[in-house]
Amino acid sequence: MSWELGLEKRQFGHRARLTLSPAEIRLVDDQAHAARTMWNCLHAWWTMLSKDKRTLAADDVAIRRARMEIDWLGVLPAQAAQAVLKTYYQAWKNCWEKRADEPNFKNRFRTVMSVDIPQGRDLQITRVHRRWGMVNIPKVGRVRFRWTRDLPVGKKANADNRITGARLVKDALGWHIAFRITTLEPKPQPHRGPEAGIDAGVNIPLALSDGNHQDHGRSPRLPDKTADRDKWLNPDEKARLLCLERRAAHRKSLCKPGQRMSNRLKRTYDQIASLRAKAKRRASDWQHQTTTELARTYGVIVVEQLDIPAMTKSARGTIEEPGKNVAQKAGLNRSISQEAWGRTITLLTYKAARHGGILHKVPAPGTSRRCSACGFTTPGSRESQEVFVCKNRDCGWSGNADHNAARNILHLYRMGLALIPAAGRAVVRRPPGVKPATAR
Ligand SMILES: [Zn+2]
Repeated sequence: MSWELGLEKRQFGHRARLTLSPAEIRLVDDQAHAARTMWNCLHAWWTMLSKDKRTLAADDVAIRRARMEIDWLGVLPAQAAQAVLKTYYQAWKNCWEKRADEPNFKNRFRTVMSVDIPQGRDLQITRVHRRWGMVNIPKVGRVRFRWTRDLPVGKKANADNRITGARLVKDALGWHIAFRITTLEPKPQPHRGPEAGIDAGVNIPLALSDGNHQDHGRSPRLPDKTADRDKWLNPDEKARLLCLERRAAHRKSLCKPGQRMSNRLKRTYDQIASLRAKAKRRASDWQHQTTTELARTYGVIVVEQLDIPAMTKSARGTIEEPGKNVAQKAGLNRSISQEAWGRTITLLTYKAARHGGILHKVPAPGTSRRCSACGFTTPGSRESQEVFVCKNRDCGWSGNADHNAARNILHLYRMGLALIPAAGRAVVRRPPGVKPATAR
């Protein structure tokens, strides 16, 4: 066997939960607030200056001076402050190269709290137990984190396999640490598995062309079922979410304009956020398990090229041209974003590559309306969201509409219509000649 095809560099992240004492949580919170303020100061400073004075070196000097003069900015470690500058500069680069909008001020409540630890050697990770590791956080000290996968530390670390840095991120569950890991692994052998077309359905989350559909056993969110709020929650949790939302709305209605948010209202918002985070984690768990399974089984995976931002934006239209069927479309769009199709593709892309498979994209138009048996688009064939019955008199094929679309997608690929062979990394559409972003 030609196993020695060579080695392949791989970069990935690993997220672990941190165990912090209340005092440590306060310290890290302060760092995150300082990092956000640093960003805002930088942005104010940058937009105020004339163009010829905006340089990285001048920024650097300004940051050093700010950290000396404003004492609470000093709680942010110097390396983390530099990382803020680097991220800010990259944000402008992304904007100039048309990958993102202009950077803006970061709002206290809508911004994800995070602190960067850009240098891996500061972390000094050790394993202290089967399930626990210790990590050094600058200006906080040594803290425990949950050990759930083998990390290249200690004797296992070398120039090719190591942790290059980390980032602290806070979500509804508390502080987490995301390690940046670089490894050198043997290249996978080409996957000889079958081909499959996948459609992101409304009735079936992932419909496969061979009928081996991937379902998570949760009720589908059709446009008319707007009452079905969050399908990843069980009935008790759904009831609690509704109750909390009512409570928040009531408390908010009692607030006078300009008044500070009460602690009770804040707590209710936190409880809502933690329920939503729970739903999100369940959804992402299913997504990971399913995509791993698909990448293991199939050698060639074909998906349709969807423009999700355009799909979710278009429903409401503008004031001059209001959209049609706004409520229905909004429901459909919500279910599209909830299935997180874009993320599924991202996961499938790198997982397929790791298993030696490949992911192809084909142009989308018509796949849901064309018959996959005879190849004709006959008006009225798609009877409803679920049922497809071919109205071509010589054909009459009938089946699930999503399954039909998946078969069409595979057929398009076999005809040689693949758009982008997306091997190894997430495909970002960018103009020719523009390099991909390195950090954001
Ligand atoms: Zn037909």
